Amino acid sequence: MSLKVYINGQLLDKENAKISVYDHGLLYGDGVFEGMRSYGGKVFRLKQHLDRLWNSAKTIWLEIPMSRDDMAKAVNDTLAANQIKDGYIRLVVTRGAGTLGLDPNRCSHPQVIIITDKIELYPEDFYRNGLEIITASTMRNHPAALNPRIKSLNYLNNILAKIEGLKAGCIEALMLNQKGEVAEATGDNIFLVRGGVLQTPPLDAGILEGITRDAVIELARGAGIEVREMPLTRHDVYIADECFLTGSAAEVIPVVKIDNRAIGDGKPGPITRDLIARFRKLTRE
Ligand code: PMP
Repeated sequence: MSLKVYINGQLLDKENAKISVYDHGLLYGDGVFEGMRSYGGKVFRLKQHLDRLWNSAKTIWLEIPMSRDDMAKAVNDTLAANQIKDGYIRLVVTRGAGTLGLDPNRCSHPQVIIITDKIELYPEDFYRNGLEIITASTMRNHPAALNPRIKSLNYLNNILAKIEGLKAGCIEALMLNQKGEVAEATGDNIFLVRGGVLQTPPLDAGILEGITRDAVIELARGAGIEVREMPLTRHDVYIADECFLTGSAAEVIPVVKIDNRAIGDGKPGPITRDLIARFRKLTRE
């Protein structure tokens, strides 16, 4: 059975799921998206993802041509059509087909695309032994230029940093903001542990407000762990006891080495391991 892809109300075979080469999503990265997970047939924090999608769209003057309830139904229908219970969902809204000029007023209408697929998980070894990452020289988009809180189709900033990481043999890379502070990884948020306290950059460091980040903050506070959203530098990362990344695809993943410096004792720490277990429990039960 061919995978079905939702486009504008229709479920099409993957091979026939196509949009125009004039779509401004393709020509200019003009659009917004979400990446979500479903566990046991239920989308994790669907409402928060839809809220973030609508907020991203609002800032770029993109009107999503359906209600949130209809979008939620379309997501669930697409999962059901593909019989996917544990998988990954990519929700994309593009500006639509326009002319070769920039003017979005000349675009037809926004295209709504829902792709559901099996999740490609990182090897279990990364969760057990942790990742090595580097700091990319490409800094995160300046919030006054393209705010990282907008999950736009324009991911070139992150891709450039990802390439730097890959060329150094790392699957993730840390990005700094225009002030030289720690922002986030190319597709994940970052947390440190120091003296038993969880530290993470605040939203005004120029980061995506990660839905996994929110869930981990809640889990930590619920477990009596103090959480501080505070500006962090590379020095803070180097002297941290523990470090981990969070994201819908990666979930919670330990980082044990950065820029050729071991973090703590170079092994995933106890608070990281505890939060990995709590997050798995939250999503799987
Ligand atoms: N930062 C960036 C740049 C991202 O693209 C993502 C999503 N992959 C995240 C953080 C994590 O966000 P979430 O937990 O909502 O997936």
